Amino acid sequence: MVCLKNANINKVIILETKIVKTDISNIDSNQIAELGRILSTGGLVAFPTETVYGLGANAYDDNAVQNIFKAKGRPSDNPLIVHFADVGDIKDAVLEINEKAKLLFDTFSPGPLTVILKKSEKISKTVTAGLDTVAVRIPSNPIAQALIKASGVPIAAPSANLSGKPSPTTSKHVIDDMCGRIDAIIDGGNCEVGVESTVIDLSGEIPVILRPGGITYEQICSVLPNAVIDKHILKSVSADEIPKCPGMKYKHYAPDADVTVVEGKICDVRNKITSLLYRQTGRTGVMTVGNAEYKADLVINVGEDNKAYAKNLFKVLREFDENNIDVVFAEFSYDDGYGLAVKNRLYKSAGNKVILV
Ligand code: AMP
Ligand code: MG
Repeated sequence: MVCLKNANINKVIILETKIVKTDISNIDSNQIAELGRILSTGGLVAFPTETVYGLGANAYDDNAVQNIFKAKGRPSDNPLIVHFADVGDIKDAVLEINEKAKLLFDTFSPGPLTVILKKSEKISKTVTAGLDTVAVRIPSNPIAQALIKASGVPIAAPSANLSGKPSPTTSKHVIDDMCGRIDAIIDGGNCEVGVESTVIDLSGEIPVILRPGGITYEQICSVLPNAVIDKHILKSVSADEIPKCPGMKYKHYAPDADVTVVEGKICDVRNKITSLLYRQTGRTGVMTVGNAEYKADLVINVGEDNKAYAKNLFKVLREFDENNIDVVFAEFSYDDGYGLAVKNRLYKSAGNKVILV
C-alpha cells in the first residue's frame, strides 16, 4: 500500500510513502531486508519501538539525517538519538563506554533507555546538533532490532511525529503526520510503553536524568544511587536558559486542544473539574484516571494507573483533536514509577497549565 499527501510544508518534496504491514511475531526477512536497504541508501523509514514510533535514517549519512529534520519540521538544534541493535555496536560512535554506562546497559538494554556519552568523530554534528556528546539507545522491539540489523548502520531516529505534536504510538498516528513526507512506514502494531525512553547523561561525574521515561527513576537509582533529575523536567525553560537537553526548550506533545492538568487526590480533582466544566463555552473533553462521569462532550478513560496512563496518553490526546474538542481537563495523581514520565509529558502538553488541588 502507498499513501500520498500534499506535504509541501517546510519545503518537503512530495513522496509516495510505502506502508508495510509487519507481523511482530513473524517478521518477513525479505521485507525487512528491503526496508533496511532503503535506510542504508539514504531513505527515511518510520518503525515501531517499545516506546513510540521512530523516524529512522542512516546516522552516518548527513543528507539523510537532515531530511529527518525537514520531514518533522524539527529545529536543527535539537539532537537525535542514535539506535543500535547491540551494545557491542556502540563503541565506534562514542569515545568510551564508561563503567556507569556499562552497568546501565547490562541492566536495562535492550529497552527504553538512552544514554548520553562523549561522541567519536564518526558521529557528525548534524546528528548531535553541534554537541560533543551523542545519545545512544538499544531498542528491544523485534521489528526495530531486525530493521537496524538489516540496515547494517546505526539509525538516527527521533519520534515519528510532526514536531510539537503528541508522539505516535500507532502506525495510524505516523500515517496522519508523515504520509507523503518519508519513504516508508512500518505498520507493526501498538507501542507497549507509550512514552519515550529515559534519557540519562553519563558524560559528566554525576548521572543526570534529562528526560524521565520507560525506565523509572527508582530503577535507575537501584543501579546508580547518586543519579539526579534535571530541573527542567517539570518546568518551562526561560529565554535566558540553555538546558542540557535541547528538546526541553520546545513546545512538545501538544494537541490542538487547550489542555489543563488538574492534579491531586482523584476525588478532589473530580470536584474541581466538575466546577470548571460549568464555565466553559467550547467543546469540552476530560481525560480520566479510571471510569468517571462528567458533563463534557468527550470523556476518555486513560487507564487505571500511571503505567496505563503512559501507554495511552498520546493516543488519547490525538483522539480529542480528532473529535474537535477545544478544551481538555486531564485528571492526574502523582505516584512513583511511571508517574514522573506521565507528569513530564502532561505538563508539556498543557504548556505547564496545572491546577493543584
Ligand atoms: P526524541 O528524538 O523526540 O525522542 O527526543 C530526544 C531527546 O533527547 C530530545 O529532547 C533531545 O534534546 C535529547 N538529546 C538527544 N541527544 C542529546 C545530547 N547529546 N545531549 C542532550 N540531550 C540530547
Ligand atoms: Mg519527540
